[in-house]
Amino acid sequence: MSHIDRESFERYKRQIAIPEIQEQGQEKIRNAKILLIGAGGLASSAAFYLAAAGIGNIGIADDDRVEMSNLNRQILHDPGRISMLKAVSAKSSLERFNPEIQIKAYPKRFQTRDELIRILGDYDLAVDCSDNYMTRFALNDACIQTGKPWVHGAVYGFEGQAMTFVPGQGPCYRCLYPSLPGDKSSPDAPVGVIGVSPGIIGMIQAAEALKYILGKGNLLVGRLLFMDLLEMSFSEFSVHRNEDCPSCSEK
Ligand SMILES: [Zn+2]
Repeated sequence: MSHIDRESFERYKRQIAIPEIQEQGQEKIRNAKILLIGAGGLASSAAFYLAAAGIGNIGIADDDRVEMSNLNRQILHDPGRISMLKAVSAKSSLERFNPEIQIKAYPKRFQTRDELIRILGDYDLAVDCSDNYMTRFALNDACIQTGKPWVHGAVYGFEGQAMTFVPGQGPCYRCLYPSLPGDKSSPDAPVGVIGVSPGIIGMIQAAEALKYILGKGNLLVGRLLFMDLLEMSFSEFSVHRNEDCPSCSEK
């Protein structure tokens, strides 16, 4: 039987009432460990909603510091936190929001496959809240190596995309992007973005993570979801496994 105490039950009762969750599902959520790579715009919605749902252990990794120009979209932070490490600021915001859960801050950039393999050992799933291809390629390879699933998200302007990768099921990120796009690999390029874009995509990532933890619904595996907020349209593209993929073939 469940070990959810009365205070926790009160906090989560509206989601425990969902047939796909119930108390057993809430226990899975409480026992889950999710790692967010990045503490910026995507993480600002993904982390808040994962914390709200009661994910018991959330890790959040970022080596950047809060800047004023982040605040049009990065609602984990505020003007009083300028120059603070984003991972530390995020931990503070999430702990204030839900004191029942454990938040671990990693004020560090995980950029290599081996660094990511080590940290992934402590988590069930990773959420890609990064802003560059190098990190996504390394995360993809680390997840294939460790068998851990991850949820990709990216935004630009009024647009965004999301996709879920489960090793052994469907394609990987490098089936979608076989090599680094030369002009988009720099995280330093100032790309315009409106806060609602990472807000929505981050929530889609959180929903995918929760579905994976619960074992319910259909994940975005092999399905690239594309969002255009100016048209207010969502479209979906099938992505197939590439037999010659540099990452996931012949593994
Ligand atoms: Zn692949």
